[in-house]
Amino acid sequence: MKKPFVSTEQLKEIVKKYPTPFYLYDEKGIRENARRLKEAFAWNKGFKEYFAVKATPNPYILKVLKEESFGVDCSSYTELMMAEAVGFNDDEIMFSSNVTPKEDFRLARRLNSIINLDDITHIALLEKIAGIPEIISCRYNPGGVFAIDNDIMDTPQEAKYGFTREQLTEGFKMLINKGVKQFGLHSFLASNTVANEYYPVLARMLFKTAVELHRETGANITFINLSGGIGIPYRPEEQPADIYRVGRGVRKAFEEILVPAGMDDVAIYTELGRFVLGPYGCLVSTVIHQKRIHKEYIGLDACAANLMRPAMYKAYHHITVMGKEQDASDHKYDVTGGLCENNDKFAIDRMLPKIDIGDLLIIHDTGAHGFAMGYNYNGKLRSAEILLKENGETELIRRAETPADYFATFDFSERYKFADIQESKSQSQKT
Ligand SMILES: *Cc1c(COP(=O)(O)O)cnc(C)c1O
Repeated sequence: MKKPFVSTEQLKEIVKKYPTPFYLYDEKGIRENARRLKEAFAWNKGFKEYFAVKATPNPYILKVLKEESFGVDCSSYTELMMAEAVGFNDDEIMFSSNVTPKEDFRLARRLNSIINLDDITHIALLEKIAGIPEIISCRYNPGGVFAIDNDIMDTPQEAKYGFTREQLTEGFKMLINKGVKQFGLHSFLASNTVANEYYPVLARMLFKTAVELHRETGANITFINLSGGIGIPYRPEEQPADIYRVGRGVRKAFEEILVPAGMDDVAIYTELGRFVLGPYGCLVSTVIHQKRIHKEYIGLDACAANLMRPAMYKAYHHITVMGKEQDASDHKYDVTGGLCENNDKFAIDRMLPKIDIGDLLIIHDTGAHGFAMGYNYNGKLRSAEILLKENGETELIRRAETPADYFATFDFSERYKFADIQESKSQSQKT
């Protein structure tokens, strides 16, 4: 069974203060998980996790992670701005972008971030616009299919990212000529996998490639970045990845490949997003509607604009009807939002306890790639984000959008200023 990290009583108190829908994050869970990750890789002297900001771009969350000595992995200009605002600098920021605009490279260089190049043509571009730093990383795309024990995990040959193997050798040589002193090697080959073997298999490939590149080019490779991809058990019957086993698997590959090659001082970096935050956030929503036609529907005050994963990927997110955990799941429902879009369904044919209007629902495992993928379709507004602190108190870490936020970019005409709209609304209410 999946248990929410808040009790029904606690949540009833929280919704008195903050109206639903909102995202709730569990600081205690985040910190404990962060410590497990660090412990699993403590054998590696330079180990550092660069949290993928895109998964949960909230400065308060990033601050918690900074206190756990994580760095950040940014992919865009605004993510770099957020990292700087939280106080990350220099080698605490990894910049892993693709199709990179010039101004993003300029900002990354100004912050002295570690740049992880996605393409060989970016070497010349970066040199021209911002100069080549002494430390740089390159992203590898081995092509083909990526398999673990004959199970195909993903198809890098279809992925837009990274350098080919030949380009790595050529790129490293070019970069050495341009004064690079320290190199990193990065690859991201499978997303959301709970297989304990993912990181060790990826590490083995990257370690071998690093040894080859060092021999071919003389490059001083100082870190290897296993990037993101470790998944979480979205379904109650799934097993989580055992991060200690993952750490031991990477260590074995390290000792078999890098140590004999005299590269035992290489640091291991990770850029986990989902694994770090996913289970420690949930979407809290209230049932506002029920209808029975050809099927039985439950309507929530949240919709796919707040959580896109079910609509976009048909992703499973577990749902708890708060206060009814002990009741039999003997009702079959489609749980929907209110978008004019028939894929706006958090669950289809889900067996749940009998639901009533006003019930509070928790949609689990939305701490990563949840709020972040939100949008404004149908004029729906983004929700608040709330941090449940270790001492049990709550802190509003992002307020909910208001219509004024939605209208903020329509500054072309006095006619459509939000103030006028409110005015006309109150006038029409009077008449
Ligand atoms: C998205 C992304 C991550 C994080 O992925 P998760 O699946 O959340 O672990 C890490 N690195 C890069 C370059 C990414 O694009």
